[in-house]
Amino acid sequence: MNGYALAGTALGALAVAALAVLLLSPDQGPPVPDPVAAARVIADRFTPAELNRADDYRSWARLIGVASLLVQFGTLGFLAFWRGAPMRRLLARLDRRPLLGAMAAGAGISILLALTGLPFDLAAWQLGRDYGLISQDLAPRLLDWLLGILITMIPAAIGALLAMALWRQLKGKFWLLASVLVAVWAVVTTWLWPVVVSPLFNDFDPLPDGPARQEVLRLADRAGVEVGQVYEVDASRRSSTVNAYVNGIGSSKRVVIYDNAIRDLTPSEFKALVGHELGHVKANDLKRGITFALLVIPLGVLFVQFASGAILRRNEDDPRGPALIPVLALTMTLAVFVLQVPGNALSRQVEAKADRYSIHLTGDSQGLVDLQVGLAKANLSDVDPPAVWQFLFGTHPTTFDRIAIAEGARRTQ
Ligand SMILES: [Zn+2]
Repeated sequence: MNGYALAGTALGALAVAALAVLLLSPDQGPPVPDPVAAARVIADRFTPAELNRADDYRSWARLIGVASLLVQFGTLGFLAFWRGAPMRRLLARLDRRPLLGAMAAGAGISILLALTGLPFDLAAWQLGRDYGLISQDLAPRLLDWLLGILITMIPAAIGALLAMALWRQLKGKFWLLASVLVAVWAVVTTWLWPVVVSPLFNDFDPLPDGPARQEVLRLADRAGVEVGQVYEVDASRRSSTVNAYVNGIGSSKRVVIYDNAIRDLTPSEFKALVGHELGHVKANDLKRGITFALLVIPLGVLFVQFASGAILRRNEDDPRGPALIPVLALTMTLAVFVLQVPGNALSRQVEAKADRYSIHLTGDSQGLVDLQVGLAKANLSDVDPPAVWQFLFGTHPTTFDRIAIAEGARRTQ
């Protein structure tokens, strides 16, 4: 293995990801976006003060996000590369029981990342409170953070144990079995997350019979989709944001609607929101997401293997020793970060399609415009965020682009 193999694998993984985006992106179909009308809507419906306030909030939030990311990578880079005497002693101690040592290293790294991330977590919380977006008090926020540590620590410890066992047994073939395990993990978490993890943070109640439930069932019937369960989640316990989502697969499939949405949206906005979620169900978008993951995982894991091997050699670490775990943590985080960029490009396409489907289903493009305006105001969204930010992190089209799609439909309605 040399530098060429590493670079080739990195480029190969990116090429597969780009190809997967092309293959899995849904055909958009009509309407053609109307950016001129969107600019008019934004000028009419938002005051300059509102736009400035959202811009202030989002600028601070982005700054906190970038700082947090840099500190996270800095921490992982330090653990992967620093080989001062205390680190050597620690690695030697972990090496006495390699598998247990790997578990401890995995758990320890996830705790350390949570600790170094805490100031940014609190800064984001304070910012949200200052702007009236977050209602949660400090104590429950810290409890959420502790719960978050527990939830990441357990898979981190088990993952580190498995990685160490495979690395020692399989050597150059590590990536083959590791890919399978990562893929299984991706599918199992999609399936179990809504039934195991989400309920730890919020209460989910089946949406009681009433106008909201009737509307969901009526639209689902018109769309010809099986929605699974319809839940209301008590999102208002943390924040005033308005949203809905679909998740789960098979028996855990569900539509989840924020209580804020049920309380605050007008009937036509609510229909637009539900229509969008039904668009995801209709187009099987969760399977699309999982397929993307399954396509990029093998070369992504091979890159992780090559990069980790290169760092271990550079450090002159024992190639079978516990230094593997911090090195893997760094290379995996890097791979996930980079592959998420094409993943987000796919997500934006999928979201644009769900908006188009919503207009098609409800026949009411004004409802979708009103919904986007309302969501942007309630969530203090940047209607037109910096292009670089949107490219790297945007999972949805911008508010501007979403209004442009809905406005485009008006011309044909
Ligand atoms: Zn969506």
